[in-house]
Amino acid sequence: MTETPRTALTIAGSDSGGGAGIQADLRTFFACGVHGMTAVTAVTVQNSLGVHGFTEIPVEVVTAQMRTVASDMGVDAAKTGMLATAEIIRAVAATADEIGLGAGGESAPLVVDPVAASMHGDALLREEALEAIRTELFPRATLVTPNLDEVRLLTGVEVTDADSQRDAADALLELGPRWALVKGGHLDGSPRCVDLLSDGTHRIELDGPRHDTAHTHGGGDTLAAAVTAFLAKGLGVGDAVSAGKAFIERCVAESYPLGGGIGPVSPFWRLAPEGTPGPPAS
Ligand code: PLP
Repeated sequence: MTETPRTALTIAGSDSGGGAGIQADLRTFFACGVHGMTAVTAVTVQNSLGVHGFTEIPVEVVTAQMRTVASDMGVDAAKTGMLATAEIIRAVAATADEIGLGAGGESAPLVVDPVAASMHGDALLREEALEAIRTELFPRATLVTPNLDEVRLLTGVEVTDADSQRDAADALLELGPRWALVKGGHLDGSPRCVDLLSDGTHRIELDGPRHDTAHTHGGGDTLAAAVTAFLAKGLGVGDAVSAGKAFIERCVAESYPLGGGIGPVSPFWRLAPEGTPGPPAS
């Protein structure tokens, strides 16, 4: 028997293709050495070519999952991903307060990844739910991690360069999270991937290489999950985000093709020193 590891809870949707959502979060939690727990919010029907549809889980089942794991196993850090509807967002926010997650709960850090759409442009959030993310979830968040499309949807700021990246961080912070991470990975033409982490007082630029790959499915989830795992292990936000960025860089570098569309980023390297296993030798 060994010591109980730290615990992390993901409140998110299922990706039947296994590359994003709770599947990505769980494998990331595992690879980062924390025990992962789930509150499933929606079940998507998807493969590498796109999301064919989704069904949300009844709201009382979502909140019951949160309460049940928190009361027995404890939650050292949590993240939200796909929340699907305004009703689920409101209930998750209220339950986060109740079980001590995020700013309202004042105990375990809460990372909010405001998932709105897939890389293929398929909606993962009902339209009326954006306002609930702004007003219910952001004020409770320790850290928010939108991609550039989500930044535009939530704040109206179009990020095209370092100046607008700073404006975006300020606009996100006005919605109430303690910290905002504005990712630069999707800025076209940039040879580097410079992310900006800000709490309004500190502005930390995180510079890394940009890997040229089509296979980045689940990248946003994996970064947010890795940061959540490092927060669960007790790191501060700056250190957790740096460690999360180092983790996702390697996962993007080792992403693999799967199916006819966009393949997933991969944390296999963390488990096997020789990297992603290929097919068995014949
Ligand atoms: N499916 C689920 C359940 C997700 O949570 C997400 C992203 O968070 C996606 C699909 C889309 O992932 P991507 O945009 O990396 O393809």
